Amino acid sequence: MEASPLPPSFALTVLFATALLLGLLTKFWLATRQIRHIARHRATVPAAFSSAVSLEAHQKAADYSVTKLRFGLLETAFSSVVLLAWTLLGGLDALNQALLSWMGPGMGQQLALITAFVVVGGVIELPFSLYQTFVIEQRFGFNKMNLKLWISDLVKGALLGAALGLPIAALVLWFMGATGALWWLWAWCAWMGFNLLLLWIYPTFIAPLFNKFQPLQDESLKARVTALMQRCGFQAQGLYVMDGSRRSAHANAYFTGFGTAKRVVFFDTLLNKLSPGEVDAVLAHELGHFKHKHILKRIVTLFAISLAGFALLGWLAQQPWFYAGLGVTPSLELLAPALGAALSSLPPEVARGFSSALGTSNDALALLLFLLVSPVFTFFITPLMSRGSRKHEFEADAYAAQQAQPADLASALLKLYEDNASTLTPDPIYVAFYYSHPPASQRLARLGVNAAPQGAA
Ligand SMILES: [Zn+2]
Repeated sequence: MEASPLPPSFALTVLFATALLLGLLTKFWLATRQIRHIARHRATVPAAFSSAVSLEAHQKAADYSVTKLRFGLLETAFSSVVLLAWTLLGGLDALNQALLSWMGPGMGQQLALITAFVVVGGVIELPFSLYQTFVIEQRFGFNKMNLKLWISDLVKGALLGAALGLPIAALVLWFMGATGALWWLWAWCAWMGFNLLLLWIYPTFIAPLFNKFQPLQDESLKARVTALMQRCGFQAQGLYVMDGSRRSAHANAYFTGFGTAKRVVFFDTLLNKLSPGEVDAVLAHELGHFKHKHILKRIVTLFAISLAGFALLGWLAQQPWFYAGLGVTPSLELLAPALGAALSSLPPEVARGFSSALGTSNDALALLLFLLVSPVFTFFITPLMSRGSRKHEFEADAYAAQQAQPADLASALLKLYEDNASTLTPDPIYVAFYYSHPPASQRLARLGVNAAPQGAA
Protein backbone atom coordinates (compact mmCIF):
# COMPACT_ATOMS: atom_id res chain seq x y z
CA MET A 1 0.00 0.00 0.00
CA GLU A 2 1.03 3.51 -0.79
CA ALA A 3 1.28 6.09 2.02
CA SER A 4 -1.33 8.75 1.35
CA PRO A 5 -0.39 12.40 2.00
CA LEU A 6 -1.73 14.12 5.10
CA PRO A 7 -5.34 15.03 4.31
CA PRO A 8 -5.78 18.84 4.41
CA SER A 9 -8.71 18.59 6.81
CA PHE A 10 -6.55 16.77 9.34
CA ALA A 11 -3.77 19.32 8.86
CA LEU A 12 -6.26 22.10 9.63
CA THR A 13 -7.47 20.31 12.77
CA VAL A 14 -3.88 20.02 13.99
CA LEU A 15 -3.10 23.65 13.13
CA PHE A 16 -6.24 24.90 14.89
CA ALA A 17 -5.69 22.77 18.00
CA THR A 18 -2.04 23.83 18.17
CA ALA A 19 -2.86 27.54 17.84
CA LEU A 20 -5.57 27.23 20.47
CA LEU A 21 -3.23 25.48 22.88
CA LEU A 22 -0.37 27.93 22.25
CA GLY A 23 -2.75 30.84 22.74
CA LEU A 24 -4.02 29.39 26.01
CA LEU A 25 -0.52 28.78 27.31
CA THR A 26 0.47 32.34 26.37
CA LYS A 27 -2.58 33.80 28.10
CA PHE A 28 -1.97 31.80 31.26
CA TRP A 29 1.72 32.63 31.29
CA LEU A 30 1.09 36.35 30.86
CA ALA A 31 -1.69 36.53 33.46
CA THR A 32 0.40 34.60 35.98
CA ARG A 33 3.34 36.96 35.44
CA GLN A 34 1.05 39.96 35.91
CA ILE A 35 -0.51 38.54 39.09
CA ARG A 36 2.90 37.76 40.59
CA HIS A 37 4.31 41.16 39.64
CA ILE A 38 1.38 43.01 41.21
CA ALA A 39 1.47 40.87 44.36
CA ARG A 40 5.21 41.51 44.76
CA HIS A 41 4.66 45.28 44.71
CA ARG A 42 1.51 45.33 46.82
CA ALA A 43 3.16 46.25 50.11
CA THR A 44 4.45 49.71 49.13
CA VAL A 45 3.39 52.52 46.82
CA PRO A 46 6.10 53.00 44.13
CA ALA A 47 8.39 55.89 45.11
CA ALA A 48 7.36 58.07 42.14
CA PHE A 49 3.75 58.00 43.32
CA SER A 50 4.25 58.01 47.08
CA SER A 51 3.13 61.61 47.51
CA ALA A 52 0.07 61.26 45.29
CA VAL A 53 -1.35 57.80 45.94
CA SER A 54 -2.31 56.38 49.31
CA LEU A 55 -1.29 52.87 50.33
CA GLU A 56 -4.96 52.01 50.64
CA ALA A 57 -5.72 53.02 47.03
CA HIS A 58 -2.60 51.20 45.81
CA GLN A 59 -3.64 47.99 47.53
CA LYS A 60 -7.22 48.28 46.32
CA ALA A 61 -5.90 48.57 42.76
CA ALA A 62 -3.70 45.53 43.31
CA ASP A 63 -6.56 43.43 44.70
CA TYR A 64 -8.99 44.54 42.01
CA SER A 65 -6.50 43.80 39.23
CA VAL A 66 -5.62 40.37 40.60
CA THR A 67 -9.29 39.46 41.10
CA LYS A 68 -10.10 40.43 37.52
CA LEU A 69 -7.09 38.53 36.16
CA ARG A 70 -8.04 35.33 38.00
CA PHE A 71 -11.61 35.60 36.81
CA GLY A 72 -10.36 36.31 33.29
CA LEU A 73 -8.36 33.07 33.36
CA LEU A 74 -11.44 31.10 34.35
CA GLU A 75 -13.37 32.75 31.55
CA THR A 76 -10.59 32.03 29.04
CA ALA A 77 -10.49 28.37 29.98
CA PHE A 78 -14.25 28.11 29.78
CA SER A 79 -14.54 29.84 26.42
CA SER A 80 -11.87 27.54 24.97
CA VAL A 81 -13.97 24.56 26.00
CA VAL A 82 -17.01 26.20 24.40
CA LEU A 83 -15.02 26.83 21.22
CA LEU A 84 -13.97 23.18 21.07
CA ALA A 85 -17.56 22.11 21.72
CA TRP A 86 -18.79 24.20 18.79
CA THR A 87 -16.11 23.00 16.41
CA LEU A 88 -14.19 19.74 16.84
CA LEU A 89 -16.76 18.21 19.20
CA GLY A 90 -19.52 18.84 16.66
CA GLY A 91 -21.81 21.41 18.33
CA LEU A 92 -22.22 23.63 15.30
CA ASP A 93 -22.70 20.62 13.06
CA ALA A 94 -25.44 19.22 15.31
CA LEU A 95 -27.21 22.58 15.44
CA ASN A 96 -27.01 22.88 11.66
CA GLN A 97 -28.31 19.36 11.05
CA ALA A 98 -31.16 19.83 13.54
CA LEU A 99 -32.25 23.07 11.87
CA LEU A 100 -31.89 21.51 8.41
CA SER A 101 -34.13 18.59 9.24
CA TRP A 102 -36.61 20.93 10.91
CA MET A 103 -36.74 23.77 8.36
CA GLY A 104 -35.13 22.40 5.22
CA PRO A 105 -32.40 24.36 3.42
CA GLY A 106 -32.73 27.99 2.43
CA MET A 107 -32.17 31.53 3.67
CA GLY A 108 -34.57 30.98 6.59
CA GLN A 109 -32.53 28.05 7.87
CA GLN A 110 -29.27 29.96 7.47
CA LEU A 111 -30.54 32.95 9.43
CA ALA A 112 -31.98 30.60 12.04
CA LEU A 113 -28.57 28.95 12.37
CA ILE A 114 -26.85 32.28 12.94
CA THR A 115 -29.53 33.41 15.41
CA ALA A 116 -29.46 30.14 17.34
CA PHE A 117 -25.67 30.27 17.50
CA VAL A 118 -25.68 33.84 18.83
CA VAL A 119 -28.43 33.10 21.37
CA VAL A 120 -26.80 29.93 22.70
CA GLY A 121 -23.40 31.65 22.87
CA GLY A 122 -24.92 34.65 24.64
CA VAL A 123 -26.76 32.54 27.22
CA ILE A 124 -23.60 30.57 28.00
CA GLU A 125 -21.75 33.84 28.70
CA LEU A 126 -24.47 35.31 30.94
CA PRO A 127 -23.27 33.88 34.27
CA PHE A 128 -19.84 35.42 33.67
CA SER A 129 -21.30 38.83 32.96
CA LEU A 130 -23.52 38.59 36.05
CA TYR A 131 -20.60 37.58 38.26
CA GLN A 132 -18.39 40.32 36.85
CA THR A 133 -20.96 43.03 37.55
CA PHE A 134 -22.66 41.89 40.74
CA VAL A 135 -19.78 40.20 42.51
CA ILE A 136 -16.47 41.68 41.36
CA GLU A 137 -17.46 45.26 40.50
CA GLN A 138 -19.80 45.24 43.50
CA ARG A 139 -17.13 44.11 45.93
CA PHE A 140 -14.82 46.96 44.90
CA GLY A 141 -17.60 49.55 45.02
CA PHE A 142 -17.78 50.22 41.27
CA ASN A 143 -21.13 48.68 40.40
CA LYS A 144 -24.09 51.04 40.41
CA MET A 145 -26.48 48.75 38.52
CA ASN A 146 -29.35 46.81 39.94
CA LEU A 147 -30.67 43.61 38.45
CA LYS A 148 -33.57 45.41 36.82
CA LEU A 149 -31.30 47.75 34.88
CA TRP A 150 -29.02 44.84 33.98
CA ILE A 151 -31.94 42.90 32.55
CA SER A 152 -33.32 45.91 30.70
CA ASP A 153 -29.86 46.49 29.16
CA LEU A 154 -29.75 42.85 28.15
CA VAL A 155 -33.17 42.94 26.48
CA LYS A 156 -32.46 46.24 24.72
CA GLY A 157 -29.09 44.95 23.54
CA ALA A 158 -30.64 41.75 22.20
CA LEU A 159 -33.41 43.60 20.35
CA LEU A 160 -30.95 46.09 18.93
CA GLY A 161 -28.64 43.25 17.92
CA ALA A 162 -31.49 41.52 16.10
CA ALA A 163 -32.70 44.71 14.43
CA LEU A 164 -29.23 45.58 13.14
CA GLY A 165 -27.61 42.17 12.90
CA LEU A 166 -30.24 40.14 11.05
CA PRO A 167 -30.50 42.46 8.02
CA ILE A 168 -26.72 42.66 7.57
CA ALA A 169 -26.39 38.88 8.02
CA ALA A 170 -29.13 38.32 5.42
CA LEU A 171 -27.44 40.74 3.03
CA VAL A 172 -24.03 39.06 3.38
CA LEU A 173 -25.60 35.60 2.92
CA TRP A 174 -27.42 36.86 -0.15
CA PHE A 175 -24.16 38.17 -1.66
CA MET A 176 -22.52 34.82 -0.91
CA GLY A 177 -25.22 32.94 -2.74
CA ALA A 178 -25.99 35.29 -5.62
CA THR A 179 -22.92 37.19 -6.75
CA GLY A 180 -20.46 34.47 -7.74
CA ALA A 181 -16.75 34.16 -7.07
CA LEU A 182 -16.23 37.77 -6.04
CA TRP A 183 -19.06 37.72 -3.47
CA TRP A 184 -16.58 38.56 -0.70
CA LEU A 185 -15.82 41.92 -2.28
CA TRP A 186 -19.51 42.85 -2.38
CA ALA A 187 -20.02 41.55 1.13
CA TRP A 188 -17.06 43.58 2.35
CA CYS A 189 -18.53 46.75 0.79
CA ALA A 190 -21.84 46.03 2.53
CA TRP A 191 -20.02 45.40 5.81
CA MET A 192 -18.06 48.64 5.47
CA GLY A 193 -21.24 50.59 4.74
CA PHE A 194 -22.92 48.97 7.73
CA ASN A 195 -20.08 50.00 10.04
CA LEU A 196 -20.09 53.58 8.78
CA LEU A 197 -23.85 53.68 9.30
CA LEU A 198 -23.39 52.46 12.89
CA LEU A 199 -20.77 55.13 13.57
CA TRP A 200 -23.13 57.71 12.20
CA ILE A 201 -26.28 56.66 14.08
CA TYR A 202 -24.54 55.65 17.31
CA PRO A 203 -24.46 59.05 19.06
CA THR A 204 -27.96 60.12 18.09
CA PHE A 205 -29.95 56.88 18.04
CA ILE A 206 -28.16 54.05 19.83
CA ALA A 207 -26.37 55.61 22.82
CA PRO A 208 -29.54 57.45 24.01
CA LEU A 209 -31.30 54.08 24.32
CA PHE A 210 -28.98 53.25 27.19
CA ASN A 211 -28.09 56.60 28.75
CA LYS A 212 -29.39 60.11 29.20
CA PHE A 213 -27.44 62.89 27.53
CA GLN A 214 -27.86 66.44 28.70
CA PRO A 215 -26.18 69.54 27.36
CA LEU A 216 -23.36 70.65 29.64
CA GLN A 217 -24.92 73.16 32.07
CA ASP A 218 -21.92 74.50 33.96
CA GLU A 219 -21.35 77.85 32.18
CA SER A 220 -17.80 78.46 33.30
CA LEU A 221 -16.72 74.96 32.32
CA LYS A 222 -18.55 75.37 29.03
CA ALA A 223 -16.69 78.61 28.32
CA ARG A 224 -13.37 76.95 29.18
CA VAL A 225 -14.01 73.93 27.03
CA THR A 226 -15.28 76.02 24.10
CA ALA A 227 -12.17 78.22 24.31
CA LEU A 228 -9.96 75.13 24.30
CA MET A 229 -11.74 73.72 21.27
CA GLN A 230 -11.41 76.99 19.39
CA ARG A 231 -7.73 77.16 20.27
CA CYS A 232 -7.33 73.68 18.79
CA GLY A 233 -9.42 74.52 15.73
CA PHE A 234 -12.34 72.21 16.50
CA GLN A 235 -16.03 72.45 16.00
CA ALA A 236 -18.42 70.19 17.80
CA GLN A 237 -22.17 70.04 17.60
CA GLY A 238 -22.50 70.02 21.32
CA LEU A 239 -21.07 69.29 24.72
CA TYR A 240 -22.99 66.64 26.62
CA VAL A 241 -22.96 65.09 30.04
CA MET A 242 -23.83 61.40 30.19
CA ASP A 243 -25.25 59.70 33.29
CA GLY A 244 -22.45 57.12 33.45
CA SER A 245 -23.03 56.93 37.22
CA ARG A 246 -26.21 54.94 36.54
CA ARG A 247 -24.10 51.88 35.83
CA SER A 248 -20.59 52.32 37.10
CA ALA A 249 -18.32 54.55 39.12
CA HIS A 250 -15.62 54.33 36.43
CA ALA A 251 -15.05 57.70 34.76
CA ASN A 252 -14.50 58.58 31.11
CA ALA A 253 -14.87 61.16 28.35
CA TYR A 254 -15.14 60.63 24.63
CA PHE A 255 -15.76 62.05 21.22
CA THR A 256 -18.26 60.59 18.82
CA GLY A 257 -19.59 61.14 15.36
CA PHE A 258 -17.89 62.52 12.33
CA GLY A 259 -17.65 65.65 10.27
CA THR A 260 -19.78 68.39 11.69
CA ALA A 261 -21.84 65.92 13.73
CA LYS A 262 -19.05 65.48 16.27
CA ARG A 263 -20.04 65.71 19.89
CA VAL A 264 -18.10 65.67 23.11
CA VAL A 265 -19.46 63.47 25.87
CA PHE A 266 -18.34 63.72 29.49
CA PHE A 267 -19.36 61.06 31.98
CA ASP A 268 -20.93 62.74 35.01
CA THR A 269 -18.50 60.66 37.08
CA LEU A 270 -15.60 62.42 35.36
CA LEU A 271 -16.92 65.92 36.00
CA ASN A 272 -17.47 65.07 39.66
CA LYS A 273 -13.89 63.97 40.14
CA LEU A 274 -11.79 66.39 38.10
CA SER A 275 -11.04 70.07 38.49
CA PRO A 276 -11.86 72.34 35.49
CA GLY A 277 -8.17 72.41 34.50
CA GLU A 278 -8.04 68.62 34.58
CA VAL A 279 -11.20 68.36 32.46
CA ASP A 280 -9.49 70.66 29.94
CA ALA A 281 -6.43 68.42 29.87
CA VAL A 282 -8.48 65.23 29.37
CA LEU A 283 -10.44 66.85 26.56
CA ALA A 284 -7.22 68.13 24.98
CA HIS A 285 -5.98 64.52 25.01
CA GLU A 286 -9.11 63.41 23.13
CA LEU A 287 -8.65 66.30 20.67
CA GLY A 288 -5.09 65.07 20.19
CA HIS A 289 -6.48 61.76 18.92
CA PHE A 290 -8.47 63.72 16.35
CA LYS A 291 -5.61 66.03 15.40
CA HIS A 292 -3.38 63.04 14.71
CA LYS A 293 -6.19 61.30 12.79
CA HIS A 294 -5.96 58.26 15.09
CA ILE A 295 -9.64 57.46 14.74
CA LEU A 296 -9.44 57.56 10.95
CA LYS A 297 -6.28 55.43 11.00
CA ARG A 298 -7.97 52.88 13.22
CA ILE A 299 -11.01 52.70 10.95
CA VAL A 300 -8.82 52.29 7.84
CA THR A 301 -6.80 49.54 9.58
CA LEU A 302 -9.96 47.69 10.59
CA PHE A 303 -11.32 47.96 7.05
CA ALA A 304 -8.09 46.63 5.58
CA ILE A 305 -8.07 43.72 8.03
CA SER A 306 -11.71 42.93 7.29
CA LEU A 307 -11.02 43.02 3.52
CA ALA A 308 -8.26 40.46 4.01
CA GLY A 309 -10.63 38.45 6.20
CA PHE A 310 -13.43 38.44 3.62
CA ALA A 311 -11.01 37.48 0.83
CA LEU A 312 -9.70 34.60 2.93
CA LEU A 313 -13.24 33.50 3.75
CA GLY A 314 -14.13 33.69 0.04
CA TRP A 315 -11.46 31.10 -0.61
CA LEU A 316 -11.96 28.95 2.50
CA ALA A 317 -15.71 28.64 1.98
CA GLN A 318 -14.97 26.71 -1.25
CA GLN A 319 -12.70 24.16 0.43
CA PRO A 320 -14.30 21.01 1.78
CA TRP A 321 -11.39 20.55 4.25
CA PHE A 322 -12.21 23.93 5.87
CA TYR A 323 -15.46 22.44 7.18
CA ALA A 324 -14.31 18.89 7.76
CA GLY A 325 -11.16 20.02 9.57
CA LEU A 326 -13.25 22.05 12.04
CA GLY A 327 -15.81 19.41 12.86
CA VAL A 328 -18.56 20.33 10.42
CA THR A 329 -20.09 18.28 7.61
CA PRO A 330 -20.72 20.53 4.62
CA SER A 331 -23.44 19.76 2.14
CA LEU A 332 -22.62 16.96 -0.26
CA GLU A 333 -22.19 18.85 -3.51
CA LEU A 334 -19.26 20.74 -2.09
CA LEU A 335 -17.62 17.59 -0.81
CA ALA A 336 -18.00 15.87 -4.15
CA PRO A 337 -17.77 18.26 -7.11
CA ALA A 338 -18.56 15.27 -9.37
CA LEU A 339 -21.97 15.12 -7.77
CA GLY A 340 -22.54 18.79 -8.64
CA ALA A 341 -21.51 18.07 -12.23
CA ALA A 342 -23.86 15.08 -12.37
CA LEU A 343 -26.68 17.24 -11.06
CA SER A 344 -26.11 19.88 -13.73
CA SER A 345 -26.65 17.28 -16.44
CA LEU A 346 -30.13 16.51 -15.11
CA PRO A 347 -33.23 18.49 -16.08
CA PRO A 348 -33.26 21.69 -14.01
CA GLU A 349 -36.39 20.86 -11.96
CA VAL A 350 -34.97 17.49 -11.01
CA ALA A 351 -31.57 18.96 -10.19
CA ARG A 352 -33.18 21.64 -8.04
CA GLY A 353 -35.09 18.98 -6.17
CA PHE A 354 -31.88 17.03 -5.51
CA SER A 355 -29.96 20.15 -4.49
CA SER A 356 -32.50 21.30 -1.96
CA ALA A 357 -32.83 17.77 -0.57
CA LEU A 358 -29.07 17.76 -0.02
CA GLY A 359 -28.97 21.22 1.54
CA THR A 360 -26.83 23.05 -0.97
CA SER A 361 -25.63 26.07 0.88
CA ASN A 362 -22.88 26.11 3.47
CA ASP A 363 -22.67 29.89 3.61
CA ALA A 364 -23.91 30.44 7.17
CA LEU A 365 -21.70 27.57 8.37
CA ALA A 366 -18.69 29.12 6.66
CA LEU A 367 -19.38 32.52 8.24
CA LEU A 368 -19.82 31.11 11.73
CA LEU A 369 -16.79 28.84 11.56
CA PHE A 370 -14.68 31.74 10.35
CA LEU A 371 -15.90 34.01 13.16
CA LEU A 372 -15.28 31.28 15.74
CA VAL A 373 -11.83 30.28 14.60
CA SER A 374 -10.12 33.46 13.39
CA PRO A 375 -9.63 34.96 16.90
CA VAL A 376 -7.52 31.91 17.77
CA PHE A 377 -5.06 33.04 15.11
CA THR A 378 -5.39 36.82 15.33
CA PHE A 379 -4.64 36.63 19.08
CA PHE A 380 -0.98 36.47 18.15
CA ILE A 381 -1.01 39.95 16.58
CA THR A 382 -2.33 41.50 19.82
CA PRO A 383 1.10 42.93 20.76
CA LEU A 384 1.32 44.75 17.42
CA MET A 385 -2.09 46.32 17.84
CA SER A 386 -1.36 47.23 21.47
CA ARG A 387 1.93 48.87 20.55
CA GLY A 388 0.24 50.98 17.87
CA SER A 389 -2.41 52.05 20.34
CA ARG A 390 0.13 52.98 23.04
CA LYS A 391 2.01 55.09 20.50
CA HIS A 392 -1.22 56.95 19.75
CA GLU A 393 -1.81 57.55 23.46
CA PHE A 394 1.65 59.10 23.83
CA GLU A 395 0.96 61.34 20.84
CA ALA A 396 -2.38 62.45 22.27
CA ASP A 397 -0.71 63.15 25.64
CA ALA A 398 1.97 65.25 23.94
CA TYR A 399 -0.73 67.25 22.15
CA ALA A 400 -2.63 67.74 25.41
CA ALA A 401 0.55 68.93 27.12
CA GLN A 402 0.84 71.71 24.49
CA GLN A 403 -2.80 72.77 24.60
CA ALA A 404 -3.40 72.46 28.35
CA GLN A 405 -1.26 72.27 31.48
CA PRO A 406 0.93 69.13 31.63
CA ALA A 407 0.55 69.13 35.41
CA ASP A 408 -3.24 69.08 35.03
CA LEU A 409 -3.05 66.14 32.66
CA ALA A 410 -0.74 64.32 35.06
CA SER A 411 -3.02 64.80 38.04
CA ALA A 412 -6.11 63.92 35.98
CA LEU A 413 -4.45 60.71 34.77
CA LEU A 414 -3.51 59.77 38.30
CA LYS A 415 -7.06 60.32 39.49
CA LEU A 416 -8.42 58.22 36.63
CA TYR A 417 -5.92 55.42 37.20
CA GLU A 418 -6.81 55.51 40.88
CA ASP A 419 -10.57 55.66 40.29
CA ASN A 420 -10.44 52.78 37.85
CA ALA A 421 -8.17 50.94 40.30
CA SER A 422 -5.60 50.37 37.57
CA THR A 423 -2.43 48.95 38.99
CA LEU A 424 0.61 51.23 39.04
CA THR A 425 2.97 48.26 38.98
CA PRO A 426 2.17 46.11 35.94
CA ASP A 427 4.48 43.44 34.55
CA PRO A 428 6.42 44.91 31.58
CA ILE A 429 5.83 41.89 29.32
CA TYR A 430 2.11 41.88 30.11
CA VAL A 431 2.05 45.60 29.28
CA ALA A 432 3.88 45.04 25.98
CA PHE A 433 1.40 42.35 24.98
CA TYR A 434 -1.96 43.73 26.06
CA TYR A 435 -1.92 47.34 27.22
CA SER A 436 -3.71 49.71 24.85
CA HIS A 437 -2.71 52.59 27.14
CA PRO A 438 0.79 52.98 28.56
CA PRO A 439 1.08 52.49 32.33
CA ALA A 440 0.80 55.62 34.48
CA SER A 441 4.53 55.74 35.27
CA GLN A 442 5.48 55.96 31.58
CA ARG A 443 2.85 58.55 30.74
CA LEU A 444 3.81 60.80 33.62
CA ALA A 445 7.51 60.39 32.84
CA ARG A 446 6.88 61.50 29.23
CA LEU A 447 4.98 64.51 30.50
CA GLY A 448 8.03 65.42 32.54
CA VAL A 449 5.97 65.11 35.72
CA ASN A 450 7.34 62.21 37.68
CA ALA A 451 4.72 62.37 40.34
CA ALA A 452 1.71 64.55 40.75
CA PRO A 453 2.44 67.56 42.90
CA GLN A 454 1.10 67.35 46.42
CA GLY A 455 -2.30 68.84 46.93
CA ALA A 456 -3.21 68.69 43.22
CA ALA A 457 -6.89 68.30 43.71
ZN1 LIG B 1 -6.39 58.33 24.52
